[in-house]
Amino acid sequence: MKDYYQTLGVDRDATADEIKAAFRALARETHPDANPGDTEAEERFRQVAEAYEVLSDPQKKARFDRGETFGGQDLFSQFGGLEDILQQFFGGGFGGGGFGSARRGPQRGRDISVRLDLDLADAAFGTEHEVSFVTRVECSTCDGSGSEPGHSPITCGRCDGHGRVQAARQTLLGTMMSVVECPDCSGTGQLIDHPCTECDGEGRIRGERELTVDVPEGVDTGTRLRLNQKGGAGQRDAPAGDVYVEIRVKPDARFRRVGDDLHHRVSVGFTEATFGADLEIPLLEGDFELLEVPAGTQPETVYRIGKRGVPRLQRRGRGDLLVHIEVNVPTDLDADAEEALRSYADLTGEQPSHKKRGLFRR
Ligand SMILES: [Zn+2]
Ligand SMILES: [Zn+2]
Repeated sequence: MKDYYQTLGVDRDATADEIKAAFRALARETHPDANPGDTEAEERFRQVAEAYEVLSDPQKKARFDRGETFGGQDLFSQFGGLEDILQQFFGGGFGGGGFGSARRGPQRGRDISVRLDLDLADAAFGTEHEVSFVTRVECSTCDGSGSEPGHSPITCGRCDGHGRVQAARQTLLGTMMSVVECPDCSGTGQLIDHPCTECDGEGRIRGERELTVDVPEGVDTGTRLRLNQKGGAGQRDAPAGDVYVEIRVKPDARFRRVGDDLHHRVSVGFTEATFGADLEIPLLEGDFELLEVPAGTQPETVYRIGKRGVPRLQRRGRGDLLVHIEVNVPTDLDADAEEALRSYADLTGEQPSHKKRGLFRR
């Protein structure tokens, strides 16, 4: 097992400052810019940097002290890793595409954003929905490889497949060498010598993509669903982009949604409000629920029917259905009905106008 303390030449109980000083001295000695073309120094520099990466990070240091080992990914893929260390010690001059940075390689595909308009019920209870969009799709002639069928990519001669080359750089101290991404192969280490004629070696062409979106229950306007790697095809073997589905819920004639609750307005005649009535309240899932409105119900009374609202997104439970009662004032009485109402007014002492009803007609 690697002993990072030994690599830096410090004791196991060395302080952070001592570790830093040791790294600084060793890095200066072994830095590739100071040893152009010296692969042994490059390897030593790598080890020194790795040791420092671990021992300068209290969490990693603790893990190392417990006997854990680190893989490459663990070490240098993390934000704030080797690149930051180099930046800190040597400024920004270190060659781009140096150690630790991921190879640029073929381009990842594009992210796509699509809007999906849903009925309220579909948004509430979930649904499957087809979406389609024009983007880049894998080239079927070369299966996305970019090489003409029967051919494969060849190793890049300029970088010998490493994807990196040394480049001379003028500095105050004279000419320095640094490691940069190979310009011939863009860091992939491979060249396509027989490009697929269908896609020009891209491995992807323009086309239409159709997807089935599995909409979970409880989505609302503004909900964004992400479909990993279902977007534009990547260049050759690179991963596809993602698809973001932006949900928009269409207005509904019967229900107004507020969060997970639904609001429904129902109109009753004033005799129904006066004597009570059984109302059939429509439910979002279809079907009805019977609501007993008691005698003497006033306008704008609100009844709450539990758990008949919208299912909660990614949680258990449902919102409620709130029923708002409107009391309907008649505007179109026939003579008999008018007579009955006027006798009612005589009995209660109300004093309605005797003008013709027609005056109030809309
Ligand atoms: Zn092709
Ligand atoms: Zn190359």
